[in-house]
Amino acid sequence: MASYADVIIDIDHERVDRPFTYSVPDRLQRVIEPGTAVVVPFGKGDARKTAYVIGLKDDPGMEPDRIKAISGIDESGTSADGVLIKLAWWMKHSYGSTMIAALKTVLPAGKRVKPQVRKKVWLRAGRDEAVAMWREALAKKSQQSRARILEELLKNPDMGLPMELITGKLAVSASVVKTLADRGIVRIESSNTLRNPVALKHAPGEQVELSREQSDIVESIIADYESGIRKTYLIRGVTGSGKTEVYINCVRKMQERGLQSIVLIPEIALTWQTLMRFYTYFGDRVSVMNSTLSAGEKYDQFKRAKEGGIDVIIGPRSALFTPFPRLGLIIIDEEHESSYKSENMPRYHAREVAEQLAKLVPDGASVILGSATPSMESMYLAKSGVYGAFTLDSRHAGSGLPDATVADMRQELRAGNRSPFSRVLKEKIAKRLAAGEQTMLFINRRGLAGFMSCRACGHVFCCPHCDVSLSQHSGGRLICHYCGYEEPGPKVCPECGSSYVKGFKAGTEAMEKHAAMLFPGARILRMDADTTRTKGSYESILEAFSNGEADILIGTQMIVKGHDFPGVTLVGILAADMSLNTGDYRAAERTWELLVQAAGRAGRRDKPGEVVIQTYQPEHYAVRHAMTQDTESFYEEEMGYRRLAGYPPASHLLSVQIFDRDERGAEEYAGKLKDLFETELAGDRSVSIMGPAPAMIGRIADMYRYGVYLKAADREALVRLKDAAERQMSADRDAGRNLKTFIQFDFDPMRGF
Ligand code: ADP
Ligand code: ZN
Ligand code: ZN
Repeated sequence: MASYADVIIDIDHERVDRPFTYSVPDRLQRVIEPGTAVVVPFGKGDARKTAYVIGLKDDPGMEPDRIKAISGIDESGTSADGVLIKLAWWMKHSYGSTMIAALKTVLPAGKRVKPQVRKKVWLRAGRDEAVAMWREALAKKSQQSRARILEELLKNPDMGLPMELITGKLAVSASVVKTLADRGIVRIESSNTLRNPVALKHAPGEQVELSREQSDIVESIIADYESGIRKTYLIRGVTGSGKTEVYINCVRKMQERGLQSIVLIPEIALTWQTLMRFYTYFGDRVSVMNSTLSAGEKYDQFKRAKEGGIDVIIGPRSALFTPFPRLGLIIIDEEHESSYKSENMPRYHAREVAEQLAKLVPDGASVILGSATPSMESMYLAKSGVYGAFTLDSRHAGSGLPDATVADMRQELRAGNRSPFSRVLKEKIAKRLAAGEQTMLFINRRGLAGFMSCRACGHVFCCPHCDVSLSQHSGGRLICHYCGYEEPGPKVCPECGSSYVKGFKAGTEAMEKHAAMLFPGARILRMDADTTRTKGSYESILEAFSNGEADILIGTQMIVKGHDFPGVTLVGILAADMSLNTGDYRAAERTWELLVQAAGRAGRRDKPGEVVIQTYQPEHYAVRHAMTQDTESFYEEEMGYRRLAGYPPASHLLSVQIFDRDERGAEEYAGKLKDLFETELAGDRSVSIMGPAPAMIGRIADMYRYGVYLKAADREALVRLKDAAERQMSADRDAGRNLKTFIQFDFDPMRGF
């Protein structure tokens, strides 16, 4: 039994990085676990402090008689922080990472930032007096900064200037401001308000009346909650079927009961439109979190949540860690999105963490997942009865599902059409242009490198640090998408000297040029990583298109996510099957999901929509079922494949990733881990081992990558092997072996390694 505990004292005082060791008295042995709030003697005079247990151990790692004992349990109940520490412990255990990495994930760095005190400076003296003083200062060389501040204040007499602006851009020192204040010329005003990043533009307003379908869902979820049932629900419904209204109404029911809610939305879909709908209902009781917030703003959001200042927070996966005092509901919209999986250690999935958090909070919480194209995982759990399942069939906005046409690109080629636009798509675009309606062209670029090669000898331009080809960008530059390496575009082939070097053209830029050639006079907008690099450009492109300032919007996956363009009646999907060939087990699922989501962009209001899917594999089941938007059939067929191959959700998969600057080092360590797993399993056949093998991309930024893959129906069996690998790694570290090798774990990976 563990007799020592690592604790963190008083989280608000920056002690997160320093655990302290205490001994656990016998009477507390059974009650203390990671996350338990305890009382400990601390510092000079052994003042009683609240602390959180973050880990238990047998070996104190220091002189036992210098260790103090935990005094008791903090009876003030489980605080939000205690719950988050328990959650961090679970994440460390389930995904593999250090405790500190897990803690940093759940307790964001913003927490340590002091709330910002805002100071504003106002003109206090009368205008004439100020003007006179400004003239006087202007004439004296030593008073130029006084002149600058007076001039600015005179320009903005009824606005006041933020102190940051004065000491920053205006380069006026605080002492100059103070002198002016002392003489009664200006007034300094401090505010210490908690910032709400979205200012409320209009008052809480009108509500729609829920349809029968919608209110049945809300009532059944709330009835479950009332009778003590806590579970996860999956709402399947096409875009526009009214899911968001259901979320809002569930959150309101929670609010009426004094409970808070977390609403996760993929960052890319976190638009002004969506936010405003929540603001209309919840006013300043809702807050938003996103990656553009500063650490201080994030801190404020968390503080407001903790102190009961808000009832609902909207944000991407990190919003899960909002420390609400009484969490009742977690909603995950577009739950199929791969952005819900963290790419950093611990590589957690928001869905799994939400379910764990829902179990840890006092009284438990409910979880609602929503999607038009649920993940295989959620479909699987809904079908097996673990999740409650609902569907929303009819659309509230729009007139039924769009008509889909498949254009077989092999036939186009046979018919002599070499353009990237099929004849049927060209014809339909022309019709839209004539009718003044809008078209969206979606290019599925997943898995496609816009690589450059020599057409004479076949030489492909590759990154010198990674095993990938370079991609061609505007201006001809070649860029590595994995490490950022860049070089100017080549004029001749370094191998054979031929000047016939060309990019593989299938990107958005090339499509834009083609479209401009085919439809002279059409107003075309393009949205991709290149055109959305600057802040706000994403929104401004969408807004321009939404306002009808263009006829055609061409873009990558970005344009597919949750936007409502009433004027769009045609969606063209170019290179629909590109993502089928990425070589990982989710390829068909991703393709199906992209096609269904893209098709959902057509005909959202009163006009019927049409979709043209251009493909080289019209017979593939992902393409066929996307055409008819047949989720059930797709699911059955895909599940058959997952079962056969033992892939998630039929089984669990753990990818153990080994990195080393030395190729041999990576390979040998991978082999060593495989041997370790075999020893641990001792002939147990319920876990199968694959590899070691070089990763799909064998080297990134000069780091060699090897993988060992483990499959098992029982996830805990994989967790045990992960633990064994972690123990091996730390034993090797302690012995000074393999110091340059490191390993990472990815459970049920979302993408190939
Ligand atoms: P989803 O979240 O499934 O995409 P939304 O909740 O955004 O669907 O609904 C789509 C549109 O239909 C929105 O403009 C919404 O205001 C409207 N809507 C949804 N439910 C109703 C309803 N019961 N009555 C009237 N309009 C509704
Ligand atoms: Zn060549
Ligand atoms: Zn590179």
